[in-house]
Amino acid sequence: MSEIKVPFFKPSFDDEEKKAVCDVIDSGWLTTGKVTHDFECEFASFVGSKHALAVNSNTSGMILAMEACGVKAGKAVITTPYTFVSTAASAVHLGGDVFFADIEKDSYSIDPVKIEEILKKDSEHKICAIVPVHIAGNLCNMERICALAKKYSTPQNKIYVIEDAAHSFPSKTAHGYAGTLGDIGVFSFYATKTMTTGEGGMITTDDDALAKRMSQMRLHGMNRDAWDRYTNPKASWEYDIIAPGFKSNLPDILSAIGRVQLKKAVSFDEKRKKIVKIYNQAFKDLDFVILPPDGEGNAWHLYLLHLDSSKLDCDRNAFAKELQEQGIGISMHFIAIFNFTYWQEKYPDFRAENFPNADEHSKNTITLPLFPDMSEEQAQIVIKAVKEAGEKHHVR
Ligand SMILES: *Cc1c(COP(=O)(O)O)cnc(C)c1O
Repeated sequence: MSEIKVPFFKPSFDDEEKKAVCDVIDSGWLTTGKVTHDFECEFASFVGSKHALAVNSNTSGMILAMEACGVKAGKAVITTPYTFVSTAASAVHLGGDVFFADIEKDSYSIDPVKIEEILKKDSEHKICAIVPVHIAGNLCNMERICALAKKYSTPQNKIYVIEDAAHSFPSKTAHGYAGTLGDIGVFSFYATKTMTTGEGGMITTDDDALAKRMSQMRLHGMNRDAWDRYTNPKASWEYDIIAPGFKSNLPDILSAIGRVQLKKAVSFDEKRKKIVKIYNQAFKDLDFVILPPDGEGNAWHLYLLHLDSSKLDCDRNAFAKELQEQGIGISMHFIAIFNFTYWQEKYPDFRAENFPNADEHSKNTITLPLFPDMSEEQAQIVIKAVKEAGEKHHVR
C-alpha cells in the first residue's frame, strides 16, 4: 500500500471533547444519566422533535423503532437494497421479512413507484413499516412516501415510516430536518458519520406511545430507567419488566462527546459543503463522472463519485485501486445487499437483475474523502488523482 496522502475520514475532535469525557469520569456516574438526558434534550431541540432517545448505535435504534411499529414474525418492512445491511437485518432480528424496492436512477433514493408496486401486492397486510434511507445526506421523497404509508394503512394495520437518517444529520428541508419527516427517525454517531460519539445513535419521534415503548425496550423492558431509579425517592429496586427488552442505552461518557459534537454540527456541515463545492466544480466537466444528486437540504455526509462506465476501459475496482495507489483513502457506499450470500439464500428472487438502478450504482460508485477539517489542498490532491485515472482509462 502506498502512503496515505488524504485519509477517507478524520473525526474533528479537540480539547473540548476530551474535557467533557474527563468530567464524566470525575463525576463517578458513567452509564446513562444526566449527561445523556441533556444530550437528548439538546438533540430534540436541534431537530425539532418531541422526543429524542439516545442509543448505542443506529442499528440498535432501528431494531427498537421497528419493534415499536409492530415488526415481528408474519410482518414485514419495505426498504432499499442500496443501504447498509443493518437497515434490513434489523427486521430479520425481530422475525420479520423485508421487501426491497429499487432506487431511482438519478436521486439514489428509494423509488416511491416501486414502493407502491409492493404495497399493492400486499393483500395480507404484512407490511407495517417503510424505511427510506437518505443516501449520502440527500433526502428521499418523504412527501410521497408518507402519502403512500397513509394510503395503504388500514384500521388494523397502520404502516409507519421509519427514516434511516444515518447519513442525514443535519439535512433540512422547508418541512423540517431529516428524521422528523416520518413517524420515527434513526440517526448514527458511528466513527465516520457527520457527528460522532465513537459508537452511538439517536431515535427521534413526536409520538408519545412509540417513544415510551422504545424507551422501555431500550433498557431490558424496564418501566424505569437507571437515572430515574437512582434519583427518584421511590426505591431503586421497585420496577416492573413489561417485555424481554434489549440493552441499547448510550452511556454518559459517550453522550458527553455527543453534546460537544452537536454544538459543532453546523460548522462541520459548512466545512464539508466547501469541499463539496470544490469537488463539484472540478468534476462537472469530466464526461466519465456523473455528479451526485444535490436535492434540497442535502447534508453531504458522503461524496459519491459515480463513474460512467461507458466512458472508461476499466471497472470501478480498478479505478479505485488507481486512487489508492495515489494515496487517496476511499470507501464504497454501498455494496447492494443482494450481493451478499445470506440475503441471496434467504430470498431467491433477490437478484441484481431485478434492481437495475441499485446494481448500477453499487458497481460504479466510489466514495471520496470528505470530512470537516479536510484542506483545499487535500481536495486538490484527490481531484488530481481522479483526473489522472480518468485520462489513463478513458475509452479512445
Ligand atoms: C452507518 C449506517 C448504519 C448503521 O449505523 P450504526 O450506528 O453503525 O449502527 C445504518 N444505516 C446506514 C445507511 C448507515 O450508513
